[in-house]
Amino acid sequence: MEKIVSLCKRRGFVYPGSEIYGGLANTYSYGPLGAQLKNNIKHVWWKYFVEDREDMVGLDGGILLSPKVWEASGHIQNFKDPLAECKKCHHRFREDLIEGNPPSHKASAGKCPDCGGALTEPKMFSGLFKTVIGPVEEEGIVTYLRPETAQAIFIDFKNILNSTSKKLPFGVGQIGKAFRNEITTGNFIFRTFEFEQMEIEYFISPDDNWKKIFETWVDYMHGFAEIIGLSRKKLHDVEIPEKERAFYSKRTIDMEYDFPFGQSELWAIAYRTDYDLKRHQEASGENLEYFDEKGKSAKGGSASGGKKFIPHVIEPSFGVDRIILAILSEAYHEEKDEKGETRIVLKIQPNLAPYKIAVCPLLANKEKLVKQAREIYDLLRKKYYCAWDDRGNIGKRYRSQDEIGTPYFITVDFETLDDKAVTVRDRDTMKQDRIKIEGLIDYFSQKLEGIPISSKSLDLV
Ligand code: ATP
Repeated sequence: MEKIVSLCKRRGFVYPGSEIYGGLANTYSYGPLGAQLKNNIKHVWWKYFVEDREDMVGLDGGILLSPKVWEASGHIQNFKDPLAECKKCHHRFREDLIEGNPPSHKASAGKCPDCGGALTEPKMFSGLFKTVIGPVEEEGIVTYLRPETAQAIFIDFKNILNSTSKKLPFGVGQIGKAFRNEITTGNFIFRTFEFEQMEIEYFISPDDNWKKIFETWVDYMHGFAEIIGLSRKKLHDVEIPEKERAFYSKRTIDMEYDFPFGQSELWAIAYRTDYDLKRHQEASGENLEYFDEKGKSAKGGSASGGKKFIPHVIEPSFGVDRIILAILSEAYHEEKDEKGETRIVLKIQPNLAPYKIAVCPLLANKEKLVKQAREIYDLLRKKYYCAWDDRGNIGKRYRSQDEIGTPYFITVDFETLDDKAVTVRDRDTMKQDRIKIEGLIDYFSQKLEGIPISSKSLDLV
């Protein structure tokens, strides 16, 4: 884990938050490469879960919502974790996360994980971040930074129905920041106060076969793990027993991943029944029912008259930051390079790699080489995010690009000036191909997108 943390800072994936002011614990910022990786993950997620599915649409709801939302959702009352303090060293812990403790939050069976001292009885502590809207604090509206993105989908359910022609079953996907005042943070970006979620609420009829739909989603989520390069054997579906589930959930699976610090939740899926929409209907007084014109699928419905009901919901929920940590730990390798020296290589899937291709002139002080390399760089970056790398010698550049996961490396050498071809090195195999400049776009279309020679690619040449 230290190796990953150090690489992240050194190469600009993740920096400690507010560092020049001495830092703010458990906050981070994503550097140039981290921001790129994060965007790529979100893009792949959005494409796979929203754009590729006819039964999905997107939403971008607010971080600040009316406090009534959090009343109705039960967060103000229930979004609490048990906090226990060590009587000896006064360190504080989330009691249910201490190893060996029962997850029921009831008993303080555990000893302090730091010094072995006795722990106090746990007290419930709200995970909501309070904030005030308005210029005068005492007169302002007290609300909360959202602890999950999901509620925005529920409160806009009617708007989505009215503004689209969606019929059940359909889902809404959303990506955005969420905030939790966590007691136990740590393990780098695994558990932080501010993080990003990618959530889906999939609305179904109460008469639909929820068990089957749930299973289909589980499979579809496994498919996502595959396209982002997480190995199946490191991903574990953990069935959450009834007494540990939220009371409204009929089934929850936490999909846990073998992180460097141990197996922990990466993402999850829950069947939440009609709890959320029902609560918002009661609290807002707005009718959030769905009218099924056919009426065949809903309880008591008649084929002719149709039927009204509150949809039920299945919720696949993902955390971007945990995905980044999983991807980095899966991708991190130390191997021998061409010269037998140890190289660090991030074997990130090309679809997620921050840079797809690095371009360099063999020598940075040879004008003709630089000019030719620049032309290639300008050509390729119309289509792919490319790195320009002319520092140091070629070996250093290889190592530098390997370390940030750039899948392909192009070198323009003296021969290029005669044969109009370049060397393309593959990050993982370190094999080199000699490719004609005019064939580069097609070469990379096939390598990076699996697209055979296409007329589309010719537009760029
Ligand atoms: P945990 O049990 O680890 O606290 P959770 O069950 O409370 O997580 P959910 O409410 O299911 O988490 O949130 C959905 C997803 O959001 C999680 O699977 C995780 O990927 C992400 N997530 C939740 N809390 C955090 C956090 N504090 N920091 C980073 N990611 C988080």
